[in-house]
Amino acid sequence: MNIHEYQAKQVLKAYGVPVAHGLPAFSVDEAVKAAETLGGPVWVVKAQIHAGGRGKAGGVKVVKSIDDVKSEAKRLLGSTLVTHQTGPQGKVVQRLYIEEGSAIDKEFYLALLVDRETSRLAFVVSTEGGMDIEKVAHDTPDKIINVSIDPATNICPHHVRAIAKALKLPMSGPQQKQLAKLVTELHRAFVEKDMSLLEINPLIVTKAGDILCLDAKINFDSNALDRHPDIKELRDVTEEDPKEIEASKFDLSYIALDGTIGCMVNGAGLAMATMDIIKLYGSEPANFLDVGGGASKEKVAAAFKIITADPKVKGILVNIFGGIMKCDIIAEGVVAAVKEVGLKVPLVVRLEGTNVELGKQILRDSKLNVIAADDLDDAAQKIVKAVGKG
Ligand code: GDP
Ligand code: MN
Repeated sequence: MNIHEYQAKQVLKAYGVPVAHGLPAFSVDEAVKAAETLGGPVWVVKAQIHAGGRGKAGGVKVVKSIDDVKSEAKRLLGSTLVTHQTGPQGKVVQRLYIEEGSAIDKEFYLALLVDRETSRLAFVVSTEGGMDIEKVAHDTPDKIINVSIDPATNICPHHVRAIAKALKLPMSGPQQKQLAKLVTELHRAFVEKDMSLLEINPLIVTKAGDILCLDAKINFDSNALDRHPDIKELRDVTEEDPKEIEASKFDLSYIALDGTIGCMVNGAGLAMATMDIIKLYGSEPANFLDVGGGASKEKVAAAFKIITADPKVKGILVNIFGGIMKCDIIAEGVVAAVKEVGLKVPLVVRLEGTNVELGKQILRDSKLNVIAADDLDDAAQKIVKAVGKG
């Protein structure tokens, strides 16, 4: 689960992490009030959307008067911000964060993440902060330094030294102390709150020499949210894909993607393989979907409806290897969904496993226009071809 920058800063502040004073605002009036409360003389008006790259897209403005806070708030609220992370459709700005301005001396990149290669948490840091870290990783990968944390020791002085060295910060004195505290607190927050990603870009040194988090992005492990009711409350469903929200109501593992071929598969591994093979034959999947093992007819029908409701979908591939999942349940679910919402795109079905003959019979009896496939390879080729023709 994702949260907004201002919420992430509140979470971090509770751990003693240094962030600037700021207040959220849902209207122009609230923005003005927030600015008055903060007092100035410099404010930053920041659009709150679940995407980065706001600065370059005009979503972060440093201003020097309440009048300018007001006009920037007017401009941003309700507008659609298109950044390199939102996709071309952009995201509508519904919340603002008004923050006191900081005088920046240096900008760094600092992230804490789960490093799957080492099965450890790792700090990823760079002197090239504030900008596109993906570009830094691509053009100058040696400027990104990875500091791996052994879970048996947690944060040790040598980790802090490695980070300080990477960021060219002092190895002693007040700034070193601030960095040591920051690293320890971020690590503690990450572990205690079951985060999956914590990204501070930029982490800054102010002109006064203090370390401060100027931006904050946090992802939480959704599977752990039941342990954190306080975090769960921060969810902003208006930022999420409506198809994914609908899918979560039915406990479906669904992730919306940009392609044209809708996929309904059982098992995460088979779903990944299905997406790969669609790409291999030159097309792109419109979603990841694992209907799971013990899905009911209703759940299958819900999944199929979510796929067909996506205007990007130009064809559907149902790929079921029935073990615990029974092929007849899949067939019944598909037929029920089509009866309700119709079927305007080609549908390729590959069924194998438990009750396969029964499943195929149900599809034949339904007189649905189904293109039958024998195996995964055959199925992928058929749907890519069918969509290509359409
Ligand atoms: P992002 O573009 O979505 O990552 O938004 P950020 O919160 O990182 O802001 C983008 C950039 O705006 C930062 O890298 C800073 O250069 C600048 N910025 C943000 N807050 C301040 C501030 O308080 N003072 C100054 N001078 N610049 C700021
Ligand atoms: Mn940023």
